[in-house]
Order: sequence, then C-alpha cells, then structure tokens
Amino acid sequence: MSATTVPSLIGGRWEQPGSDEIDPIYDPASGDTIAMLPYSTPAEIDLAVRAAKQAFPAWANTPVPDRAQVMFRFKATLEEHFEELARLVTRENGKTLPESRGEVRRAIEVVELACGAPTLTMGTNLDQIADGIDEELVRFPVGVVAGITPFNFPHMVPLWMIPLAIVCGNTFVHKPSQRTPLSAVRIGELLEECGLPDGVFNIVHGAKDAVDILLAHPDVSAVSVVGSVAVASYIYATAASHGKRVQALGGAKNHLLVMDDADLDKTVTALVSSAFGNAGQRCLAGSVAVGVGSVGDALVGELSTQAERLKVGSGMEPDTDMGPIIRDERRKELIGYIEQGEESATVTLDGRGKGPANGFFLGPTVIDGVTPDMALWKDELFGPVLSVMRASDLDEALGIMNSSTYGNAASIFTTSGHHAREFKRRAEAGMLGVNIGVAAPMAFFPFCGWNNSFFGDLHATGTDGVRFYTRPKVITSRWWLAEKLDHSKPEGRGH
Ligand code: NAD
Repeated sequence: MSATTVPSLIGGRWEQPGSDEIDPIYDPASGDTIAMLPYSTPAEIDLAVRAAKQAFPAWANTPVPDRAQVMFRFKATLEEHFEELARLVTRENGKTLPESRGEVRRAIEVVELACGAPTLTMGTNLDQIADGIDEELVRFPVGVVAGITPFNFPHMVPLWMIPLAIVCGNTFVHKPSQRTPLSAVRIGELLEECGLPDGVFNIVHGAKDAVDILLAHPDVSAVSVVGSVAVASYIYATAASHGKRVQALGGAKNHLLVMDDADLDKTVTALVSSAFGNAGQRCLAGSVAVGVGSVGDALVGELSTQAERLKVGSGMEPDTDMGPIIRDERRKELIGYIEQGEESATVTLDGRGKGPANGFFLGPTVIDGVTPDMALWKDELFGPVLSVMRASDLDEALGIMNSSTYGNAASIFTTSGHHAREFKRRAEAGMLGVNIGVAAPMAFFPFCGWNNSFFGDLHATGTDGVRFYTRPKVITSRWWLAEKLDHSKPEGRGH
C-alpha cells in the first residue's frame, strides 16, 4: 500500500485538507508510513460545521422510520465489509485481527441499537394532568454534534456516537484521532453508500487546534469526546463554557481484585486477557491486580508464567497474541515506567526487547510490589504493563482501589457471594465485573465511567446515548369545545 493522502468529508465532498501541517500515519507493526494526513484548515472546519448546519433541518424532518432504514442498510453494509474493516483497524492501530473483529462486532451492535430509533426516541404522555389538560414529552434532535475520538478503537468508538446521533435526527462533524483516521474515512464512505444525505456526516482532521474550533463554534450544539483524562476534562470545561452539552469519556486505571478463594487458573487467564489484550491500550484494561489475603505470591507467579507465553508480533499474523504500541514515543514512555518499577518494585516479567525489531513493540510486563505512592499506580500507563499490589483483606483492597482518581471499570475474582456483593455495593467505579476481566457493557447499556473517567451527565450508548442526542419538549394542552359559529350570516364572514 503506498502512502495515500487521507481526505476530509465536507457537505458530501471528499477533498484533501489544505493545511501545511501533515502527519504520517504509521503501520505500528512495521513503522512503515501507510498514509499522509494533512490537517483541516480553520476555514475548512467552519465549512464542515456549516454543511452540517445546512443539512440539519431536512434531516431532522426526515421521518424517524426512514432514518432508521439508513441504519438497517448501514448494518448490512458493515456486515458485508466486516473482514475488510477489521483488517483496516489492524493496519492503522496494530491490534490483532481477532481483536479488530471483536471491535467491529461491538460497533455493529450500536448500529443495531440505532435501528430501533422509532421505539428509542418515543416520548411519553399523561392524560388529564388537570381537568381537561394533557401533557406530553416529545424528543427533538439537538442540532450539529461534534465527535472527537481516540486512536485505540478507531472503528468502534466513532460508532458509539455516530449511529445514535444521526438516527436521532442530528448532523455530525467527526474529528478522528490524527493517529488512526483511516477507519473514520471508511465509515464515511459506507454511510454515503447507504444513502445518508450529503452534509449529515462530515469528517475533519487535526489535533487540539481543530478541536478548539469545534468547541467554540456557535453552530455546534453538542460534543461527544472519548480520550485521556486531561483531554476529556479540558473539552468538557471548554465546550460547556460555550453553552454546549457535553459527554466526555476519560482515561482509566482499572483494578482487578483477586480473592484467595478464587479459582486461580481461570482467574489468571482472565487477568492476562484483560491486561494484555489490545496491548493494554484499552480503557477497560485491568492495569492493577490486587492479590487479597494469601494469594499474592501464587498470583504473581502464575501471571508471569501465563503472560510470558503470549506471542508478540504483527496483528496480521494468525499466531500473534499481542500487537504493537501505537507509536514509538508511547513505547518509550512505557519503558520509562518499567525503569521506575526496577528501582522501586520488582519486575517479574520484562517486556522490553520482545517482538520484531521493526515496529513499536513491547512485550507483556508484570511489576510486583507496587504501592499507592508510585506513579506506576497513580498514572494511566495505557500499555501492556500490569502492576501487582497486595492487600490483607477485601476492605483494604477496596480502600486502595477507591482512592484512585479514576473510576472506569473494576473486577473481582472470587467464589464467595458475600465478597462479590460487598464489591458490587462498595466499588467506586461505573463498570464492574464479577469473575469477568473486561466488564464491557453491551450497546443497550450505557458506557458508565465514574470519577475522572467521565465528565458530564449522560453517558455514551444505551438510553443515555439517546437522551444525550435529543432534547425533550414538554407540551401542556387544553382544548375547549368551540362555540358553534354560524357562517351563513353575512356578519359571520366579517362583513
Ligand atoms: P487523547 O486524549 O490523546 O486524544 C483523544 C482525542 O482528543 C483525539 O482525537 C485527539 O486529537 C484529541 N486531542 C488530543 N489532545 C487534545 C487537546 N489538548 N485538546 C483537545 N483535543 C485533543 O487520547 P488517545 O491517546 O487518542 O486515546 C487513549 C485515551 O483514550 C486513553 O486515556 C484511554 O483511556 C481513553 N479512552 C477512554 C475510553 C472510555 O470509554 N472512557 C475509551 C477509549 C479510550
């Protein structure tokens, strides 16, 4: 594949963005440049918002079942292109093909949810709230939505937003990650094939500058963002200060509590998949394992043994278990954390130097003896580095976990119903697993981060998603019986 130029999509026109700022897009498994990404100019971003604004009235007036039909066609088209879309994710992100297939499957599930728009967007009414008076709540679209997405799920995260936003009657301007823009472009092409009118979905490219224009633009009504805590909180505050509704999904530091009554073998298999799947570049990745009670040493030993067996390599190879890191700079940052682990804790499995020499590889790494004062525990590492901590009982483990500033996901591994119940009630995180390593809600539930893992009120997907992309009107009506007018008399006609 030669290095093609990535286009933007503005009002139905695919064009080369005009800025002088150009990023190479790498295949992280080889380091090869696979595309060039020119950024959109401020004028182009303004044009994209204006195209979305222009397309809005007609699209908002399109009958809901007709909007849903676009989603039915989109679902069929995504199925038809399933393998191609998965390969594109692997190409630009690096994850293994089975992981990419999982990603595309989860994305399709949101499209399936959006197919139910006539039911999902229904209002409510109450007859006779007072004598002769009825009240109804009707949902209307909000207008132009800006969607800002990260590199780690270049197909799925955009589709957390786009199907629900547009099926609810909004128009959309997407700013994908500048590291993985290719899946977004393919989504745009396929939506076009499905008959989505010009201007309903637009794509612009860039980084902070492009986002800032969208956040301040008077014609953008709502902003959905998924990214790191710093970016999510900045976008939340900035967009809100411009009067927009915002849902901002941030980073994570997910704890996996392992009780000494757990089935260790099955638990460690789940932990290895949680920590090292997607090379740890997943907001639901377990990044801290807490051994509770007597299980600590056995847990570290088994984790290191099982994780060492993972084959690190190109995601395109059928026998690869773990792909590369998105960029070399990120890999170097992760190595910096492993060096800290050598100084202040114990590296029981060292991923440095693992994987092919070309590409941005780092093998699975396990660091034992991590404590809450270390950056290894405080920071989101977002890579295949699993910290292990010890706690004497569930209270202490919950205390460690709940003192984290994050609150995306957490899991407990146990055979005790009592421990599981205590965990469910007391864990300060929004997506919990009981004997589940990656507690990912399906599309009809909200993606429910807490604390600094989420800024806003209504989460992505599920009925929260529908409520975020619609605004309710409550209409109170009274009808009097009109007096019968006699139109036969000339004065009755106003003479
Ligand atoms: P990132 O925060 O660097 O970028 C996210 C998006 O924001 C990109 O489109 C980027 O161009 C834009 N951006 C970057 N810097 C910006 C700035 N200063 N101002 C405005 N916009 C800016 O995130 P990433 O590295 O692409 O993705 C990984 C992060 O996303 C991790 O922290 C991960 O936990 C998080 N994430 C969270 C969820 C969730 O559901 N909570 C899901 C996926 C990823």
